[in-house]
Amino acid sequence: MSDCIFCKIIAGEIPSAKLYEDELIYAFLDISPINFGHALVIPKEHHQSASTIPEETAGRMFHVASRIGILLKRMEEFDAYNLHLADGTAAGQVVMHAHLHVIPRGAEDGFRWNWRQLTYPEGKMAEIASEISAKLAGKIRD
Ligand code: AMP
Ligand code: ZN
Repeated sequence: MSDCIFCKIIAGEIPSAKLYEDELIYAFLDISPINFGHALVIPKEHHQSASTIPEETAGRMFHVASRIGILLKRMEEFDAYNLHLADGTAAGQVVMHAHLHVIPRGAEDGFRWNWRQLTYPEGKMAEIASEISAKLAGKIRD
C-alpha cells in the first residue's frame, strides 16, 4: 500500500532497525519504545486488521515475536515480556498495518497497564459466551 509507513519500511524506502526478515514477515525496533528493545513484528503483505492475515503468516508472527521476547527477557534489566496487538483505533491502533508489539518488561521498569476489571451481572457472562460461540462456529477455517 503506497501511503503506508510500514509498507515503506518493508520496501526499504524508510530506514528501520531490522531484527529479522523472511518471505512472510519483517521485525524491527519500535522507534518510540516503552522499554529499549521494544520490537514490532509485521506481515509483509499489507493488512489493516490482524483478522485478515493468513494463518501461516499470523503463526509465523507469533512464533518470531515469542523468540524475540525470549531474547529480550535475557537482557540485563528485563525478565519478562508482553505481546500486544491493537486492532482498530479505539484499541489504540495508530499505524494501520497490523503489527504485533514485543515489549520487554522488568519488575522495576515503571510501566503499568491501566487494566480495569469489571464484574459480570448475573447471566451476562453465559449470554455473551453463547452469542460469540454460536457466531464463531464454522468461521475459524472458512
Ligand atoms: P500502534 O499504536 O499499536 O499502532 O503502534 C504503532 C507503533 O509504531 C508505535 O509504537 C510507534 O512508535 C511505531 N512506529 C511508528 N513509526 C515508526 C517507524 N518509522 N519506525 C519504527 N516504529 C515506528
Ligand atoms: Zn502497509
